[in-house]
Amino acid sequence: MSLTRPDLDALPSYVPGRTVPGACKLASNEVPYGPLPGVVEAITEAAAVSHRYPDMGVVALREKLAARCGVDPQRISTGCGSVALAEHLVRATTLGPQDEVLYSWRSFEAYPIIAASAGATSIRVPNRPDHGHDLAAMAAAITPRTRLVFVCNPNNPTGTAARRAELDAFLDAVPQTTLVVLDEAYREFVTDADVPDALTTYGDEPNVVVLRTLSKAWGLAGLRIGYAVASPAVSDAIRKVVTPFSASAVAQAAALAALDQEVEMRRRAELVVTERERVQAAVQKLLPEVPDTQSNFVWLPLRERSVEFAAVCEQHGVIVRPFPEGVRVTIGTADENDKFLPAAEAALNSL
Ligand code: PMP
Repeated sequence: MSLTRPDLDALPSYVPGRTVPGACKLASNEVPYGPLPGVVEAITEAAAVSHRYPDMGVVALREKLAARCGVDPQRISTGCGSVALAEHLVRATTLGPQDEVLYSWRSFEAYPIIAASAGATSIRVPNRPDHGHDLAAMAAAITPRTRLVFVCNPNNPTGTAARRAELDAFLDAVPQTTLVVLDEAYREFVTDADVPDALTTYGDEPNVVVLRTLSKAWGLAGLRIGYAVASPAVSDAIRKVVTPFSASAVAQAAALAALDQEVEMRRRAELVVTERERVQAAVQKLLPEVPDTQSNFVWLPLRERSVEFAAVCEQHGVIVRPFPEGVRVTIGTADENDKFLPAAEAALNSL
């Protein structure tokens, strides 16, 4: 007789991108330029009073985020990364196996783990052949038991983005009793004007939650701050299930300092986009099936050849992230990408 739930034995573990000393890591969708100016100083200052508990209400940071988003602070919740908020949202909407959590697949690998650990039932809708979300099929898969739908835009790991018309039609089809979580972890890298900003376009719908993070373009992956913009009622529910004090004082201070650096953040995001266009064009030449990306990574749909491709890249000193359906490669600095491209060519030639 086990002390823990037997169903956890079947639950896949979250697999982080690997860090290999001496190799360049293009496996975790981080931005390669270091913390934004002022962040390290803010952390140092906060560390000096870290014998005290942090502000549990995260008031200053929520106010700053609210002002940026043009909403009332009551509508902002923060989490230990946006992955924690995804977890809180599932916990706040589902009670057990009778409740369904719907998402596209393959998408962010945390969704099935979160749904299963909450005891809810996952419903996966396969991506379209072009590797994007099949929003029409997702809408059709909604039942009275569907409590929450994750829409990952742009999608991790395929980089594809849903556009305005299909999102409008999807949201029109979702009943008001189902919560739609628009996960925009990579929003700052979107350049296609037809990919809507969920906050300004759908943020006021009572059944919509927009998830954002400071881990990617804002450069704070190691400090763990994400935020959700939701209706006041949903926000209150999220804050009921949040682990108390999970936003550390250091993380709050770092986030406040980072948010003062929007111009520099945008400059860095543009560098990523410039490199992304170069890498995307080069890999599409090698593998025409590579979809256009709106994120800070590219997707090589190599299926059963993925693990071997990653192994050859590793021999060339580049760590990428294989999944069963393909390989995700984060956009790095120009030098890192220059290391990846010949590795990719060698890998594809050897498969
Ligand atoms: N959503 C998506 C789509 C992601 O790819 C990630 C990070 N891999 C997250 C959420 C979570 O990021 P964090 O917890 O660092 O905010």
